[in-house]
Amino acid sequence: MAQERKLVSIVVPFFNEGEGVEYFYQAICTIFDQVPDYSFEVVCVDDGSHDDTLNKLIDIVGLDPRFRVIEFSRNFGKEAALTAGINAAKGDAVIPFDADLQDPPELIPTLITEWQQGADVVLARRVDRSVDSFLKRKTAGMFYRFHNLISSVKIPENVGDFRLMNRAVVDALNQLPERQRFMKGLFAWVGFKTAVVDYTRNSRAVGTTKFSGWKLWNFALEGFTSFSTTPLKVWFYIGGVGALLTFFYATFIILRTLIYGVDIPGYASLLVAVLFFGSLQLISVGMLGEYMGRIYMETKQRPLYVVRARYEDKNEP
Ligand code: UDP
Ligand code: MG
Repeated sequence: MAQERKLVSIVVPFFNEGEGVEYFYQAICTIFDQVPDYSFEVVCVDDGSHDDTLNKLIDIVGLDPRFRVIEFSRNFGKEAALTAGINAAKGDAVIPFDADLQDPPELIPTLITEWQQGADVVLARRVDRSVDSFLKRKTAGMFYRFHNLISSVKIPENVGDFRLMNRAVVDALNQLPERQRFMKGLFAWVGFKTAVVDYTRNSRAVGTTKFSGWKLWNFALEGFTSFSTTPLKVWFYIGGVGALLTFFYATFIILRTLIYGVDIPGYASLLVAVLFFGSLQLISVGMLGEYMGRIYMETKQRPLYVVRARYEDKNEP
């Protein structure tokens, strides 16, 4: 062989996507045929699905040696699944991809072209999120703005996990030792030369979203606390301003008492002050708890996920 064809790995997390597996397989194979100059492998991670996702994936592995499956022992979450897949990927470039086909597979050839033109990372940016609900768009927008305000690592807005990363970027990612992996932040943290491709996000092919509002809220907290210590430090300034105001108020009360004598009323202002500062303290203690909890989890040094089994065609290199 004169020149080895470059290998592109597609990493796909699956959680209860049984009804979508066929669609996914068809769609992705069509794309592979469109770019015959590249070899492909698909690393499917079954993130503890309760339905027939795993069996369907295993069937595909039997048919198509380009597919591999990593089966988790339970549901560890999308971030863990992506990490496992990216770890296992052998390609010269790696593309994380959603099983529900919300990321259009037709964009993959464009990502590859940009990569061949010298970009280390090719981001796929959603220009139109009208398929997401109003609430999800608004809260996502708020998340990006707030995150980028308080964190020195800026996450590009409207860019999901769908992107192409070359081998150097993937190796850098794999070296990051932290257990709590907020992938969007980690992707941004490693840097590298980046190009952007715009696309319109599709609706889910089948099934429903696996992220509830509460899961998304915790995901956002993970983002803030993983990449910023501002929420820890801001209390110093809030406390400082509070103390300063209290000092002026105290001076005022003392002077007034000296001039006008003892004044019994004042119950309302006292109660307000006590309640207000009490709540501030609770919020700040809670904030400390968020970080402490994460330090605690991190110190356990538990693995990110447990693999129950791997399925692959043994003849493949
Ligand atoms: N997913 C996963 N583990 C989970 C939740 C989701 O592997 O605990 C996968 C899911 O199967 C899909 C991708 O992550 O391939 C994105 O999930 P989903 O489409 O539900 O998220 P949304 O597009 O609504 O943000
Ligand atoms: Mg989706």
